[in-house]
Amino acid sequence: MSGATVLNNKEAKKVHNFNAGPSILPKEVFEEAAASVLNYQDMGLSILELGHRTPEFIAVMEEARSLVKELMQLDQQHEVLFLHGGASTQFMQVPMNLLDSKDAAAYADTGVWSSKAIKEAKLFGKVDVVCSSKDGNYGFIPTDFAVPNDAKYFHFTTNNTIYGTQWKQIPKTGNPLIADMSSDIFSRVLDFNSFGLIYAGAQKNMGPAGVNLVVLNPALLGKLKRPIPTMMDYRNHLAEGSMLNTPPVFAVYVCLLTLRWLKKMGGIAAIEQRNIEKAALLYQAIDESTLFTGNVEKKDRSLMNVCFRINDESLEKPFLDFASSKGVIGIKGHRLSGGFRASLYNALPLSSVEVLVAAIKTFEAVPA
Ligand SMILES: *Cc1c(COP(=O)(O)O)cnc(C)c1O
Repeated sequence: MSGATVLNNKEAKKVHNFNAGPSILPKEVFEEAAASVLNYQDMGLSILELGHRTPEFIAVMEEARSLVKELMQLDQQHEVLFLHGGASTQFMQVPMNLLDSKDAAAYADTGVWSSKAIKEAKLFGKVDVVCSSKDGNYGFIPTDFAVPNDAKYFHFTTNNTIYGTQWKQIPKTGNPLIADMSSDIFSRVLDFNSFGLIYAGAQKNMGPAGVNLVVLNPALLGKLKRPIPTMMDYRNHLAEGSMLNTPPVFAVYVCLLTLRWLKKMGGIAAIEQRNIEKAALLYQAIDESTLFTGNVEKKDRSLMNVCFRINDESLEKPFLDFASSKGVIGIKGHRLSGGFRASLYNALPLSSVEVLVAAIKTFEAVPA
């Protein structure tokens, strides 16, 4: 038994981790990552002290990239990159590579992350915000909008982590689709090949903070006159297989472990079924309750981030305390939307949702 396992068994208290990000990953991923920090593949070396140009690490990077292709069922046109910088870096890297100063790109504004992407794009070209749910407190996904034919691309945030809304249908606009999938990557089946570029910070559904997944069609690149700094130019990363400089080796390694776990669970279609079941259970408890109310329009409810509130705000703190006494942590809502947010990422077991649902029902029966 490894040191890490002993520690977990003896000392870890039972918690149900609903954190929005960084967030829960599978326990077996933590165990294997911990063991590899001490001794990677019996080399007598930690994964942390392995050169990134060694055959061992190159194998990690290649397997991670090929598992992404396999799980997302990508075609020959799509390439996979692991890049530094978090999703927020992609807010600028996308327009820097794809948007000329004379051109316009179309953006959907469905929350804080979308508006940050919009702000960055304006540094590089014209931005046409074709729809927004801001006036409705970002509580729905807009449906009635048109994207101009000449827009270089259409950018949207597939899942709005802070507000708890999710695009159920991928808009068909004719323009290259660019999506921030940070908080619902690998959580549901989509036609990933219909996108020009997908990006996601790892720390919600894929691994630890510090690395981004970028899936892109290289045919979109190389069309601008703007000089692009070496580290910002996707073409350089493609040419070097995500090893232009030292990649975030440990973060990529833990992503690989999570991808292997996902494959073992049956892939994206199987995890989607689990995610549907978990979300349905929690939304049903909220809808049946007289104390709690869901924040967003039912048709747009996220499977990943369930946002709700308690009708009598003075009961908010007592409920948080009560839930925490049952081991439920991380359900305080984002400061911008208040109330509660339970994040139900891939690795969260159904049993944790059952504990939260039981807490909601018990609290309702005997308010503090
Ligand atoms: C968390 C999040 C981000 C920001 O990610 P960083 O890696 O912290 O830059 C961007 N977009 C969405 C949808 C997110 O959930």
